[in-house]
Amino acid sequence: MSRLVMLGPPGAGKGTQAKRLSASMGIPQVSTGDMLRAAKKAGTEMGKRAEKYMSAGELVPDEVVVGIVKDRLTDADCAGGFILDGFPRTVPQAQALDDAGVKLDVVVNVNVASELLVERVTGRLSCGGCGAMYHKRYNAPAVADVCDSCGSELYVRRDDTEEVFGSRLAAYEKMTAPLASFYADKGLLKEIDGVGSLDEVQARLVKAIS
Ligand code: ADP
Ligand code: ADP
Ligand code: ZN
Repeated sequence: MSRLVMLGPPGAGKGTQAKRLSASMGIPQVSTGDMLRAAKKAGTEMGKRAEKYMSAGELVPDEVVVGIVKDRLTDADCAGGFILDGFPRTVPQAQALDDAGVKLDVVVNVNVASELLVERVTGRLSCGGCGAMYHKRYNAPAVADVCDSCGSELYVRRDDTEEVFGSRLAAYEKMTAPLASFYADKGLLKEIDGVGSLDEVQARLVKAIS
């Protein structure tokens, strides 16, 4: 069970859990959000194009993300498995993965009620150095605004505002939520409750994929 997809709304804890699982299983986390932010930081044309959508809380066009994921999955470190985090986000993206011959073992849908998501997202602190995630209240760093793991400064993502979150949630409901039945029909879907401590959610995740 080593070709996994983490599905769920923005702020459900996909990245947090994918990172933990990546460390314990020794397979890479493949996050389209992280790759798009890295492209933006590097100032590539693709990064600039993606930024317009990301800052508005809209999805980046399918052909852009499908291209970067297909490329990434051909890297040697993905040969033994991977954890897709934030991809696929639309049925055409899922179809493109299928068409590319990528076989998945399990798709985990992390469930968190929308009232809780807004608080998670607006309290999120992200590490610019290693990509670790913190939360102002639920998972605060030992020293304010400094990453426990790598010592880099933490920042608030530009799209982690209440206003942009509204658009992101709407995009999720319209475009991404239908993926649950897409994968259920293929017999790949596992549902987990994403509310609880990080350890509790991790235990549910490990159980769901084993
Ligand atoms: P996603 O990748 O699904 O958007 P993240 O993993 O970045 O979600 O988590 C969103 C925010 O919620 C972060 O600030 C993170 O620290 C926090 N968080 C993650 N899991 C939990 C949890 N089980 N309980 C409370 N807060 C959480
Ligand atoms: P979250 O952690 O809240 O789920 P991500 O970091 O995964 O957010 O994504 C941030 C933004 O990047 C999204 O709002 C969207 O604009 C873009 N993005 C990331 N992954 C995809 C994807 N698979 N398809 C389209 N857009 C994406
Ligand atoms: Zn860090």
